[in-house]
Amino acid sequence: MPETHHINSPSRLYRRYHCPGSVHLEKDRPDPGGEYAEKGHLLHKAVWLPKEEWPGLSDLTSSDIQTLEIATGCLEKLNVSEWHVETPLKLVGKFFEIATEGTPDGWGVNADGIIELVDFKFGWIEVSEPAENLQLAAYACMLKQAHPEVEMIRAHIIQPNLAPVLRSYTFRRFERLEQRIFDIIAQADKAEPDDLQPGDWCRYCRASTCCPAIQKLSTSLQERTEMGLVEVTPENAYALEQKRKIVQKALDTLKDEIKQVVQENGGEVGEPGAGLKFKTTKGSRYISDVQAAYHTVQSLYTVEEFLRFCSMDFTRFHQDCVNRLVENGKVKTKKQAESALDHALPIMYGKGREMLQEWKQKE
Ligand code: SF4
Repeated sequence: MPETHHINSPSRLYRRYHCPGSVHLEKDRPDPGGEYAEKGHLLHKAVWLPKEEWPGLSDLTSSDIQTLEIATGCLEKLNVSEWHVETPLKLVGKFFEIATEGTPDGWGVNADGIIELVDFKFGWIEVSEPAENLQLAAYACMLKQAHPEVEMIRAHIIQPNLAPVLRSYTFRRFERLEQRIFDIIAQADKAEPDDLQPGDWCRYCRASTCCPAIQKLSTSLQERTEMGLVEVTPENAYALEQKRKIVQKALDTLKDEIKQVVQENGGEVGEPGAGLKFKTTKGSRYISDVQAAYHTVQSLYTVEEFLRFCSMDFTRFHQDCVNRLVENGKVKTKKQAESALDHALPIMYGKGREMLQEWKQKE
């Protein structure tokens, strides 16, 4: 299909904003068309026809009829008696040049004298909110230039396959909107051919099958796709890259959780970048069966030598001694037990040696 749209048509402004260099690549390139595009054209045509004429459109399926019923139901709510369907409009720049031109799906004046602007989206992919939708903003500015007397324009996106089906926004600040659109176009005009940035705006780009940025992305993905489990093509490269990022994020989260568990349990995490290498710190190793350990090495060590390597949990031992002294009737109270142990135990732990010396000196 030959190029019939303005190179910076309203539907391309979002792409120009994010990928200014696309203006060079899309130039003179044909619309790839395809089955979905054809169905879209058919539904765009049918939605403005009276329902009685739909059966004449033999390519409509029962699901298309349902879609059309939802779409026309939304149109009726807007209370417009006469719609202007696919009328070409222009946005004139500051030097009277045609900055952009395009054909909104439909617009009309409602019973309150307000312009209602409608754009149908028959696909399944949600488009940006009307308030942030550059295509709608450009149509609104075109209508404002054509009808300077209006103060506001209500714009609606009708997307029958998604909920909510009808999303609306009222445009009022036309000067600012115009300026934003002129800035985007000026940025694209100045862009170098390699000023390319892949993103979701690539979806309808005419250059997507020959774009070097997409090919680079595709090659890098192909390298990472071991054993060719997925065929990476310029068409699916961006979608795959998005999925890869999601999986990568999930893996990173899992990795952090694993590290946390290891660290909480006395382990140590390997160097960053070296992968997940967990090692047990030497300090966290302990002998759970001292008796068995002694039997293993008794030909090398005397009991006294072996005991030098054994440390005891003083707090637990002290507490246990206190309880046993009371339970065995050696003393009456825990306080008495603790006092007795203060004298008896110091030699059993480091600091106690000094205390023992003091105690002996006192005696
Ligand atoms: S395919 Fe994407 S990156 Fe390439 S020119 Fe089009 S919008 Fe830019």
